[in-house]
Amino acid sequence: MKEFTYLTPATVDEAVSLYGRHSETAKYMAGGTDVIVKLKDGWMEPDYLISLKKIPELSDLHKNEATGDLTIGATVTHAVLEKSIMIQKEYPIIYDAVSNIGSLQVRNVGTIGGNLINAVPSADGAIPMIALDGIALIQGPAGERSVAVKDLFIEPYKTVLKPGEILKKSPSRPRRPAPAVPISNSAAGPPWNCPSSASGYS
Ligand SMILES: Cc1cc2nc3c(=O)[nH]c(=O)nc-3n(C[C@H](O)[C@H](O)[C@H](O)COP(=O)(O)OP(=O)(O)OC[C@H]3O[C@@H](n4cnc5c(N)ncnc54)[C@H](O)[C@@H]3O)c2cc1C
Repeated sequence: MKEFTYLTPATVDEAVSLYGRHSETAKYMAGGTDVIVKLKDGWMEPDYLISLKKIPELSDLHKNEATGDLTIGATVTHAVLEKSIMIQKEYPIIYDAVSNIGSLQVRNVGTIGGNLINAVPSADGAIPMIALDGIALIQGPAGERSVAVKDLFIEPYKTVLKPGEILKKSPSRPRRPAPAVPISNSAAGPPWNCPSSASGYS
């Protein structure tokens, strides 16, 4: 593995500024479950690795009781979501998705933000965020912007994030009861009937 300098900014502003200083030679890392594999295999060779794990703002997880909005910070791990009583009780769609990711070790460090930005077609964390009308709040050299999580992905391994941009958090609207649709009436067949080749983790 090529040597690199490990940077640990304490704020999003600082992280974006560090990226600006080192630009193409820098890479963001959250839990590192994808990044470390790529570093070891030589698919990625940054001179600077900018860790997002020490930025308190990114690890926020809360529900606004007044509006019902749920906010999940980008560095919230799958394990934190899985163990949250609020998630278990009120957002079983998130619990079901993240509790099945990889192994306990992967869930302990892997983050929801890394899962989204890695943009693997089989990303388990993306499904509930899209279903809950999640919004991706982004900050980069040009300031802040937001896009719907469903519009985050361009193609496998590619998102709309521009160089230096950081996914900060993903607020979701309150759950709405879905209208019951009998499966036998659906011409397209069940939505989970996708080809197994679409999965990267089978
Ligand atoms: C053994 C193993 C099993 C796995 N099983 C599954 C599985 O079952 N289901 C599944 O969905 N995934 C699985 N994964 C993939 C991976 O664990 C998840 O995608 C994880 O959520 C990635 O999060 P991370 O924090 O480790 O990302 P990192 O490796 O830190 O980063 C991934 C990418 O996102 C970028 N990034 C991270 N955070 C941000 C941010 N906030 N803003 C901007 N860019 C950012 C990084 O630069 C990098 O390009 C598995 C991985 C391994 C190694």
